Amino acid sequence: DPVLSARALSKVYGKGSGAVAALDRVDVDIARARFTAIMGPSGSGKSTLMHCLAGLDAVTSGTVHLDGDEISSMSQRRLTKLRRKRVGFIFQSFNLVPTLTAAENITLPLDIARTKVDKARFEQVINAVGLADRLSHRPAELSGGQVQRVACARALVGAPAVVFADEPTGNLDSHSTEQVLSILRRSVDELGQSVVMVTHEPDAAAWADTVIFLRDGHVAAELPAPSTDRVL
Ligand code: ADP
Ligand code: ADP
Repeated sequence: DPVLSARALSKVYGKGSGAVAALDRVDVDIARARFTAIMGPSGSGKSTLMHCLAGLDAVTSGTVHLDGDEISSMSQRRLTKLRRKRVGFIFQSFNLVPTLTAAENITLPLDIARTKVDKARFEQVINAVGLADRLSHRPAELSGGQVQRVACARALVGAPAVVFADEPTGNLDSHSTEQVLSILRRSVDELGQSVVMVTHEPDAAAWADTVIFLRDGHVAAELPAPSTDRVL
């Protein structure tokens, strides 16, 4: 069964004559333990879809199920709790806490949620992102690529149902871009993580298993990504 499923999902910003339908009755399923990319032109609804699937934004109508739970009707309070336990985020700016070590940054969301760190998962994630020898360094002592890997590890360590990555390679050079994408790819292949990435870069989407194309608030197409373009 899909890890995420949206039915007749609509999102309207504003009211009356100024209203904008960012999403118009979208049906979409996100496969479990797969890497899904969401693509589309600027303004097509990518961010809005991601925010509705992640429980960051209230929907106007329709339903969203995350791992069997209907999140589209949950209160803000319940959503906040759910996000802390079951959703991981990687943003374009990686916003690490400069005074904390890499290890402390990675476990910070779990500490905030007062969730115990699963040691085996921590080790697994650290090995998958390649940070074993940098855990006691602070962000200023890490390379750009290492900072990104800390941000990826932080999203993965709680074994969330889904990791959402919002234009994770937006500001990166090609070397760092490849590092982030290969970490996301490995988290799917080695840890069975479900990953959803919003991107407007075809080269980035090529690392995914499936690409969902949005246009004007609709799903225009859903296609397997060309796996031959991947550099593993
Ligand atoms: P994308 O991520 O593909 O660029 P968005 O989801 O950001 O698309 O936006 C989809 C549409 O919704 C656009 O027309 C955009 O102008 C509009 N929109 C997005 N966020 C808001 C907002 N907070 N208030 C009003 N309109 C918005
Ligand atoms: P990576 O491929 O891991 O991003 P780089 O090629 O950027 O690594 O850097 C190689 C090494 O140089 C890193 O392991 C790191 O220790 C060090 N380094 C690079 N950039 C910085 C920086 N801005 N601050 C501190 N150390 C850095």
